[in-house]
Amino acid sequence: MTLHYPLDAVTARSWRSAVRRLIPTPAAHRRADVGRDAARSLLGCDDATLDLLLEAGLPSSGTGDAARFDRFDLINVAIYGGAGRSVPEAAQRYVLRYADGRPDSWTEPRRWTLRWLLRCADQTCEGKWRVRLPTPELFGGSLTDPPGPDPLETTGPSVRITTGAVTAGHRAEVRSPVARALFDEVLTELETGRLRYQWLPADLGADLPGAVANGTLDCVAAALLLAERGRERGLSTRTRRGRMLGMIAVDHAWAEIRDDDGRWLPLDPVFALLGGTGRTGPAAAAFAAFCAGSVPGRFLPWDVAAGAPLAEHSCGAWTETFLASPA
Ligand SMILES: [Zn+2]
Repeated sequence: MTLHYPLDAVTARSWRSAVRRLIPTPAAHRRADVGRDAARSLLGCDDATLDLLLEAGLPSSGTGDAARFDRFDLINVAIYGGAGRSVPEAAQRYVLRYADGRPDSWTEPRRWTLRWLLRCADQTCEGKWRVRLPTPELFGGSLTDPPGPDPLETTGPSVRITTGAVTAGHRAEVRSPVARALFDEVLTELETGRLRYQWLPADLGADLPGAVANGTLDCVAAALLLAERGRERGLSTRTRRGRMLGMIAVDHAWAEIRDDDGRWLPLDPVFALLGGTGRTGPAAAAFAAFCAGSVPGRFLPWDVAAGAPLAEHSCGAWTETFLASPA
């Protein structure tokens, strides 16, 4: 369903400014394969607004009805435009709502039913699957009925995983002054836009020099940056992938450092940025401090590095749906 709304002057100004702020997906990573209908539904806008975005300089190949857009350009314009109607903005709202909750609620354990379906494009496929299972025990949670050993190896057109899970968080504050300074440094770079937080194609996010040269970080590139700078300054570092669970499950990645007392703690300036967007004052500062060492209670971690796959399939094209319902 697409929602339509009148294009008033304020809205038009905010869309134009979104296009001006956009750092387009660089040529080597561009895939202009989204048509006008899909673009309108992704942005939650009408035809007139899409024309306005084109006039304002939204990159496209082709013109008129044949115009094709890069998916990540559309996502980033949606986030900057802030009309609030697009799927990507739902992910941003998720983090804002989370940060709005009582500080006690940030670490509360939660019970979930996870339903993960991976499907080959070819429904007669007999190819191999290798699926990494989530590991909530890393953060003090558990899988209540794990479907088998990790990794799960099987064959066929699809893999269906259903399991109960408990996610748990805990509060911790990084002690290492080097790690604290590193967290503050990257958060400041993101807040000032020296490195812009944008959604990036997976291969660009996993290419740290490429992402930095483009002036952009997504959560994967940010995790790799923290790990690299931490190592250069003598810290033990690693990166992890996971999903933030809620109405929608949002893919995420973060860095972890070994603190002065030997514990591994997450450093997540991207979560701090998203939770603090448009906010100042003690509440925003408390949330930022939380993101320097604490584990949020709704994070489902995998023991998989940022940029590495959660699942692999021998024949190529496949899709997945991942649902987490409160249990
Ligand atoms: Zn297949």
